Amino acid sequence: MDVKNVFYLPSGRVFLLNLDGYLVECTEMRDVLIQGKENYAVRNSSDPHVIWKHLRIYEDKWLLTVSTQRGCPHNCKFCDVAGLPFRGDLTLHEIEQQVRVLLESTPYVTKSNKVKIGFARMGEPAHNVHNVLAAIKRLPDISASLGREFSWLPCFNSILPRSTSKRMSGFEVIDKVLEVKERDYNGFLHFQISVNSTNEEKRAELFGGADVLSIEEVVSYINTKPITNRTVTLNFIVMEGIEVDVNSLYKMGLSGDKFTVKLIPLNNTVRSQDEQLETYANYSNYEKLQELGQKFNKIGVPTVIDAIAKCEEAGLCCGQLAQIFQ
Ligand code: SF4
Repeated sequence: MDVKNVFYLPSGRVFLLNLDGYLVECTEMRDVLIQGKENYAVRNSSDPHVIWKHLRIYEDKWLLTVSTQRGCPHNCKFCDVAGLPFRGDLTLHEIEQQVRVLLESTPYVTKSNKVKIGFARMGEPAHNVHNVLAAIKRLPDISASLGREFSWLPCFNSILPRSTSKRMSGFEVIDKVLEVKERDYNGFLHFQISVNSTNEEKRAELFGGADVLSIEEVVSYINTKPITNRTVTLNFIVMEGIEVDVNSLYKMGLSGDKFTVKLIPLNNTVRSQDEQLETYANYSNYEKLQELGQKFNKIGVPTVIDAIAKCEEAGLCCGQLAQIFQ
């Protein structure tokens, strides 16, 4: 594995790694504080100087992502990884190597109270759940071997296919992830499930026809499981004209005991433009996301609004660089 290229965002870097002739992406970013009056400017600015002023220090929080597959077998309408050729799973060693590259490229980050690492850049981790969870369990040893004092928060992001390429059911994937969450990480693993719409036909369409577990199945299954510390997050990339019906989720049993909801603007990817998808809200009309968030809060479900990545302006969304250089 060698580093082929590195690209810069105001808040971090995207690495392109050559894995036997296939380019995979991994990233390191700093979080941007967006709450509060003084940070209103950040949401409305593309000026790196403004963003730099509001970056969180590494010691408080650091954000990493690594790929789990060479491309992805799915064809989601909002994702530029879908346009890459699919060449199968990454090995445990290849996932671990990405973590090492990110850490070795930042020798100045020696301590952090929260290193959040998303197994989410390229690939659907459910198909490679064995290697991904093995890598998650290895994280403390990797950082210790490099002399870092990190408190890890692994993040497993999935569309939850009904059946994986290894013929494991989506429910078994949930079980395996929750087992590592509760047993190895004392509940401090972030399990994020892509939902995007409450209309199942529309969901399937947005996931490029993928057969995924329905929201009702996910909610009722997870409601039977012990969930400590971090609740399970349902991710909504909120798009114009795409249904997000809070009441129907409430009727399904969605509650704050087990779940959080994350609302995310649609990135301006090549694929989303081709598919004529439009974001429901973004930096300039952030209040719309807050209003939707309040509807979830009314049924007792906490919400997180994620509206600062701004990767699309720089052409650095998942898969975009690999597509150019592949
Ligand atoms: S969103 Fe995830 S599952 Fe869908 S194509 Fe992109 S990487 Fe694959």
